[in-house]
Amino acid sequence: MTIYNLGSINADHFYAVPHLPGAGETLAAMTLATGLGGKGANQSVAAARAGADVVHIGAVGPDGGWAVDRLAQYGVGTERIARIGTPTGHAIICVDPAGENQIILYPGANCALTSDQLTVLDAAGPGDWLMLQNETNLQQEAAERARANGVKTAYSGAPFDVAAVQAMLPHTDLLLLNAVEARQLAQALGLVVGDLPVSQIVVTKGADGAEWHGTGSGETVSIPACPVVPVDTTGAGDTFAGYMVAGLSQGLVPEAALRLASAAAAIKVTRAGTADAIPARDEVDTFLA
Ligand code: ADP
Repeated sequence: MTIYNLGSINADHFYAVPHLPGAGETLAAMTLATGLGGKGANQSVAAARAGADVVHIGAVGPDGGWAVDRLAQYGVGTERIARIGTPTGHAIICVDPAGENQIILYPGANCALTSDQLTVLDAAGPGDWLMLQNETNLQQEAAERARANGVKTAYSGAPFDVAAVQAMLPHTDLLLLNAVEARQLAQALGLVVGDLPVSQIVVTKGADGAEWHGTGSGETVSIPACPVVPVDTTGAGDTFAGYMVAGLSQGLVPEAALRLASAAAAIKVTRAGTADAIPARDEVDTFLA
């Protein structure tokens, strides 16, 4: 079983600043830390660390070789990541002493993917999954191509945009949203979350846990979050998504996959950083034991 992930790859640059910059202000940062990020890369790392066979479909620019190497170090298949002329996506994240942030996101190579990169999906089949988020182009085309071969699609509707999420619903088997996104989508469509038109929905609720809805059966599973002292919740949702889909692809029932994903995300929030802070499977299994 393979998890294909059409996803963004970013360089996350974290600048510690004395206060968030105002209009026209030039501000010196106290420190700079750079790491691998992007919802797609985070989810690929999480699924690979959960033990799944992962093929990342994406693109970086001439400045992105290190990000591809980092993904490979975490066990992600990188042969479908194109090296193109557009700069690698990146995020400039200013963090003030209170932990408030301000982010500039440059999509770059992430939105310059081409259809020929999707031919790998023609060899995929039942049992395989395709993960998608809102930080690349070609999501619908990829989902259609994968589903034509019996592949299930898991779509994170983030960064949230009602129109984008609505357009993806007919191409989605498993929809992953956080509580705010779920509320906004349900309101926009005039439905309750459990009636959204996809067969499975996972709603993550931060420190309040997570729930799974099987819309066909009307079944709902809710689990509490694992009690931890949070240090940095960035990437918690992506860690959850990667572990959840990996668990399902390994044959876990939804409740077991939720528990696995919840433990992995809880460990992640105890650590600063994004992709590099996602725990390995043995650590998660020990945490759950
Ligand atoms: P997102 O990062 O997408 O906004 P959430 O904030 O819902 O997503 O977090 C995703 C998951 O991470 C939660 O369902 C939970 O399992 C875990 N998580 C997040 N915050 C905490 C926390 N403070 N304590 C324990 N687990 C957490």
